[in-house]
Amino acid sequence: MLDCAIVGGGPAGLTAGLYATRGGLQNVVMFEKGLPGGQITQSSEIENYPGVTGDITGMDLMQPWPKQCMKFGLKHEMAEVSRVSKNGETFIIALSNGETYEAKSVIVCTGSVPRRAGFKGEDEFFGRGVSTCATCDGFFYKGKEVAVIGGGDTALEEALYLAKICTKVYLVHRRDKFRAAPNTVKRVEETPNIELILDSVPEEVYGDAMGVTGLKVKNTKNGETTDLSVPGVFVFVGNNVNNEVLKQEDGSWLCELNEQGQVVVNLKMQTSLEGLFAAGDLRIDAPKQVVCAAGDGATAAINAIAYVDEHFNK
Ligand SMILES: Cc1cc2nc3c(=O)[nH]c(=O)nc-3n(C[C@H](O)[C@H](O)[C@H](O)COP(=O)(O)OP(=O)(O)OC[C@H]3O[C@@H](n4cnc5c(N)ncnc54)[C@H](O)[C@@H]3O)c2cc1C
Repeated sequence: MLDCAIVGGGPAGLTAGLYATRGGLQNVVMFEKGLPGGQITQSSEIENYPGVTGDITGMDLMQPWPKQCMKFGLKHEMAEVSRVSKNGETFIIALSNGETYEAKSVIVCTGSVPRRAGFKGEDEFFGRGVSTCATCDGFFYKGKEVAVIGGGDTALEEALYLAKICTKVYLVHRRDKFRAAPNTVKRVEETPNIELILDSVPEEVYGDAMGVTGLKVKNTKNGETTDLSVPGVFVFVGNNVNNEVLKQEDGSWLCELNEQGQVVVNLKMQTSLEGLFAAGDLRIDAPKQVVCAAGDGATAAINAIAYVDEHFNK
């Protein structure tokens, strides 16, 4: 019986592993289907992790994290978890290879995947001018023009964020109205360096070996194509949280999720089910930043230790 099972080995899972083992839990296993590190390992540059001053990639940032955790006894199982369920006081961790583990507590840290809009060149230039995170990459376009794709709250908030850094933001939306909160729409409309390109969809992002040089946008009403000479294209068309492990055999969920499928937690990272914690990008209101995911992982582990102590070490 594991004291704690951690599902996912990104910044949240690894930090949870560090705090859980160093805090005295025994038999802590982190299940990660790939190499530990999480989605930040896809990033060619990270500048906003505190204390990092050099030019480093996401891979460089994450490389020492597993070694640090293993030093305190974290075990890494390279396996995909198919389902987490609970039987009485015991959690059952079912793996895709058919094996099962039992655990007293579980911290789910399976992260999220930003959705792609699906236009030509989007995948080719992802990380080289196409981004899904203004907080992460906006600074690289300081004093330049960028395009934002999307019409929901995130797209508009990110456009407002970019408008403070960039000289101009083209906001491309396929409809003539935004889905965002009215107050956010008003703020966007009142921002002089945001130009709305409505009823329009991105057709192709193009560039050269150095990265993106422009975006072709098509008006869906009159069929006209416009060329935007921008080095940066930010795509905000939604985010899928990796919550599948919480789906039960009968189709119900192990704990409460919101309408976007994000796990509802409190400030202790406790879910609606005792002994089950969630941390990082898959929780409600996640800022989707490495430093925040790591902080969540630490919080979840500290509270998992308290839970195990209280329920099993009387
Ligand atoms: C291109 C890019 C650039 C970014 N740039 C920055 C930046 O500059 N600064 C910043 O702070 N943030 C940045 N981010 C965001 C940051 O990467 C995330 O906020 C952070 O990684 C979230 O951490 P997490 O641990 O919650 O989830 P993730 O990093 O998504 O890790 C989840 C892990 O769980 C594993 N997993 C999922 N399902 C299962 C399963 N069923 N079984 C086993 N394992 C599973 C996955 O393989 C993955 O390793 C960037 C993201 C991307 C994609």
